[in-house]
Amino acid sequence: MSRKTLLALLLALPAGAFAADPAPAPDPGTVFRGALVYTAWDETPRRAAILVKGGTVAFVGNEAEARAAAPSAKVVDLAGAVLVPGLTDAHGHLRSLGTLRRMIDCRGISKDEIVLRVRALTASAARGTWIRGRAWDQNRWSDTSFPTAADLEAAAPKTPVVLARVDGHAIWVNAAALKAAGVTKATPDPPGGRIERLEDGSPAGVFVDNAMALILNAIPAPGPDEARKDFVAGLEACAKAGLTGVGEASGSSLADVAILEKLAKEGKLPVRVYATVGPKDLDAALARGPVSEGRLTVRALKIVADGALGSRGAALLADYSDAPGNRGLDVTAPEEVERLAAKAFRGGFQVWTHAIGDRANRITLDAYEKSLSSVHPVDPRPRIEHAQVLAPGDAARFAKIGVIASMQPTHATSDWPWAEARLGKDRVKGSYAWRTLLKAGARLAGGSDFPVESEEPLLGIYAAVTRQETTGKPPGGWRMEEALTRAEALRLFTADNAYAEFAEKRRGRIEPGFDADFTVLDRDVFSAATPASEIPKATVRMTVVGGEIVYRSGERP
Ligand SMILES: [Zn+2]
Repeated sequence: MSRKTLLALLLALPAGAFAADPAPAPDPGTVFRGALVYTAWDETPRRAAILVKGGTVAFVGNEAEARAAAPSAKVVDLAGAVLVPGLTDAHGHLRSLGTLRRMIDCRGISKDEIVLRVRALTASAARGTWIRGRAWDQNRWSDTSFPTAADLEAAAPKTPVVLARVDGHAIWVNAAALKAAGVTKATPDPPGGRIERLEDGSPAGVFVDNAMALILNAIPAPGPDEARKDFVAGLEACAKAGLTGVGEASGSSLADVAILEKLAKEGKLPVRVYATVGPKDLDAALARGPVSEGRLTVRALKIVADGALGSRGAALLADYSDAPGNRGLDVTAPEEVERLAAKAFRGGFQVWTHAIGDRANRITLDAYEKSLSSVHPVDPRPRIEHAQVLAPGDAARFAKIGVIASMQPTHATSDWPWAEARLGKDRVKGSYAWRTLLKAGARLAGGSDFPVESEEPLLGIYAAVTRQETTGKPPGGWRMEEALTRAEALRLFTADNAYAEFAEKRRGRIEPGFDADFTVLDRDVFSAATPASEIPKATVRMTVVGGEIVYRSGERP
């Protein structure tokens, strides 16, 4: 089958083909009534009833007409709630979100508190197990220097400990972990990675980017049952947060894809998943071709071009303003980005490349431009994940090449306290530049990068609109010239994300023929009349995917 035919087929699939359970008997339908309905980001909300049949929207409008069209339909009363097209997250990590539940959650706690929690777990840890944690952020501590193995020595003298930084681009380990991994003073920094060292050259306890593998490879691998549990926990958390779909950005192994496929086949995916595979599994994934199974789609490659800004792994064109001589790391060599992209385009796959620094973004734009002009794929919609720091003029290249900037509004509100220190006064103007990209004619996609940030899309919408932390900091918002309107924020988490996964003809709006994916909220956070401070306070009443209620507040999903 040619690439063109395949794409045409994918785009032409009827919405019903993606419903979870083909009903054995004719579906009597469901009428969702009593809500204020936003049928799309660019429509005025109205009181309307929605008739759903076979997983898709059959009718939107007058309740009497909806009931007359399906007299035996089930009726779901939404009692004055606000219903919007299903909110989605373009970029998250499902399995890690689930794994987080079993890890020490270091979000928002001090170094001393983390050490206390490690000590508490050490007491009960079985022999051979590793204590794991994630999401520490030294920028939020009173001492903002990197932590060390020595900090953990008294709490965990024998049990290996590995704690991931908030951005997932650095780990903090103890001496037992160094020993278990066989890392010593003599271990060299791998390409694209850095071992933080003490004055005598021995590992200090923090490993950045590609150096993390030196430790992580020594951790006993979780079995498939454990991985499946993690996926299920992550999926449930998403449904609870009001998400109807997720872009799985992990660049998964085929083993993980198989777990998702099994869940999809069993009808156990509460939300839609659009998944990526990593470069290691690209050949095998291309040989198989795109996968479409129930609520699961697999047809994208994930490449990682650089690291993250917080750990100074993001690849910059010039030195870090607060670390002269350091320009970050090319996690994947520029030629390799181009080679992988070309291969994926040739196989009819979409390409997602993680690029945070301005150099990584330029490398990726160059790689896309070259590979697209050699392969000429039909409608490739390449994406850059994060697109956090752009050199002047590069925003226009997103529009020109047709690259989607897949961004995470909450990254801006987490990073603002130190982003300018890393980048300096001038360069910071090209960072988290949503408005600049829109003005340049580029398309955006919106996500959270959970569990780096919370999976709750309402927090992303709040950050997009206010550019403030939920505490209201900084007053007036950070560089408000880049903020989005409420309507643009709704578009970001609905229609824009549908486009970013080739689903704009089936999702992102509520209209006949579209998938019946809805998020139901207790208040109207999309009206400019509602103070922005109300947005994070809103609660998700219900999450509906393909007409099925996959989460209802007060009930277990
Ligand atoms: Zn990510």
